[in-house]
Amino acid sequence: MSLKISSALISVFYKDGLEPLVRLLHEQNVKLYSTGGTQAFIEQLGVPVTAVEDLTGYPSIFGGRVKTLHPAVMGGILYRRELPEDLAQAERHRIPPIDLVVVDLYPFEETVASGASDEDIIEKIDIGGISLIRAAAKNYNDVLIVSSRSQYGNVVNLLTEKGGATDLEDRRYYAGEAFAVTSKYDTAIQAYFSGSIVRSANEIYDFKTLPAAHLRYGENPHQQASFYGDLEAMFEKLHGKELSYNNLVDVDACVSLIDEFSETTFAIIKHTNACGIATAQTAREAYLNALACDPVSAFGGVVITNVKVDVAAAEELNKLFMEILIAPGYEPDALNILKSKKNRILLQRNAVTLPTVMFKTILNGVLEQDKDNLAETASQFKTVTEKAPTESEQRALEFALKVCKHTKSNTIVLAKEGQLLASGVGQTSRVDALRQAIDKAHTFGFDLNGAVMASDAFFPFPDCVEIAGQAGITAVVQPGGSIRDQDSIDYCNQHGLAMVTTGVRHFKH
Ligand code: 5GP
Repeated sequence: MSLKISSALISVFYKDGLEPLVRLLHEQNVKLYSTGGTQAFIEQLGVPVTAVEDLTGYPSIFGGRVKTLHPAVMGGILYRRELPEDLAQAERHRIPPIDLVVVDLYPFEETVASGASDEDIIEKIDIGGISLIRAAAKNYNDVLIVSSRSQYGNVVNLLTEKGGATDLEDRRYYAGEAFAVTSKYDTAIQAYFSGSIVRSANEIYDFKTLPAAHLRYGENPHQQASFYGDLEAMFEKLHGKELSYNNLVDVDACVSLIDEFSETTFAIIKHTNACGIATAQTAREAYLNALACDPVSAFGGVVITNVKVDVAAAEELNKLFMEILIAPGYEPDALNILKSKKNRILLQRNAVTLPTVMFKTILNGVLEQDKDNLAETASQFKTVTEKAPTESEQRALEFALKVCKHTKSNTIVLAKEGQLLASGVGQTSRVDALRQAIDKAHTFGFDLNGAVMASDAFFPFPDCVEIAGQAGITAVVQPGGSIRDQDSIDYCNQHGLAMVTTGVRHFKH
C-alpha cells in the first residue's frame, strides 16, 4: 500500500550526507522530530525541526542514555494505523504518528578499533537508536526505516520518484536491511564482550572479531565501508590524512608486489596495477627508473619501496604528486623533505606476517582461496625453443614474471633487466594486452629491441609471439600448456626468439 510520509524522526551520529534527505523531506512538508545533536544540525540548515523532548515531555537524561526511549516515540512508530483500537489509544495518549525513522547508530566498532577505554566503549553501545530501528522495522507496514548512511541516496531517489510516499515492498525491503544493521551491530558488541579481538592471520576467518575501522566511504562516495584489521600493527603513519578504501586496496597491492623483491626496488601502483617498478643499486635510481616507465599514470599513485628512503631519493620523490609513500624507514632529512606536501600520506611499514588466504563475496556466499604465493625463479624455467635466454634475459624474465603475477589478467608484461617497460592490464584478450603494452612502451620512449615478455597464462594462438617478435622482443616466459603451444614455439624458432615455460599460471581477476 502506498503511504505518504507525514512525519519523521531523525537521530544520527554522523551527520554527513544527511542534508539532501532533510531538504527533500522539508520540501515534501514532512514534520521533523530530532534528538539534540541532529536537531542542531538540521536547524543550521535553516529547516524547521521539533525537539524530541517536546514530543516526550522529557529532557535527554543520564548523559544521553535515554533520549528517545519513551512511549510517545515508540508508540508513534509502533501503533498499527489500520487498527481502530490502536488509533483510539494514540489519540487518547496524544501520540502523533512517526512514519519515517532515520538512524545512524553510535559507532561502536570504530570506538573499539580506536583503542578507547572500556568505559568509553560501553557508552558507545547505542540503546535508543537500536530500539528505534527495531520498532520502525517491525512496523514496516506503516513506517519506513532508514538504518544506514549508505541508504540516504537511494531513499532520496525513492521519495523523489514517489512524491514523498512509499510502497509496502519498499518498506519491507528497508526493514530487512535494518535487521541486518542491528544484527551486525550486536555481533560486534558480543565479540567485544567475548574478548575475541584477535590479530593472528588464521583468525581472519572470523574477520568481524578483528578491530574495525569505519572508512569515510567505499570505492565510491555512496558506498559505506569499513576495514577489519589492525592497520596500526602494519604501519606507522608519519604524515598525512586518513587512508581511504581505495588507498587501502592499492596499499595491499603494493605490499604484495614489493615482497617479491629482495634487491633495492621501487614500485608505483595505480588502481592495483604497477605502472612502474624497477630494481637498481640505489633508491634514487630505482625510483627514477620506476617513474620512467609511465610518468603519466604515476601521477596520484601509491609508491612503495623495500629500502630506507634517503635524501637523494626523497628529493626526486618530492617532485611527484603521489597519494601515499610506503617504506620500511626514512632518513630524518628525507622525511622532512617528504612532509612538505600536506596531503601526502607517509607510512612506515612494520614487519607483520600477513594472512595466506583471501576471501571474496559472490552470489549468496563467499569464495576462499590461498593467496598466489608461487614465484618461479629462472632455475625452474624450461627452455622450449632452440635458443635459450641469455643470463641477462633470464633475469629480465624472472623480473617480468613477478610483475605479471601481480597485474590484472589478461596481462602481458614487457621488461628489461631490472625495469618494467610497459604492461597491458585487465584486457579481455592477451593480444589486446600485448598491443596495449607495446603502444605504451613506445609512447614513453622505450626501444623494445632485446626486451622480454611475460604472460600470465598460455598463448592459445601464435599471434602474441608474432606481434612480440615484430616489436623486437627476444625472450618470452609463459606457463605453457596450450594444445597449440608448438605453433608459438615454431614462430620463436623461425625468428630467433627464446621461450621458456613455467607450468604455473598466474591469473589475477
Ligand atoms: P544526537 O547527535 O542527535 O544527539 O544523537 C544521535 C545519536 O543518538 C544516534 O546515534 C542515535 O542512534 C542515538 N540515540 C537516539 N536515541 C537514543 C537513546 O534514547 N539512547 C541512546 N543511548 N542513544 C540514542
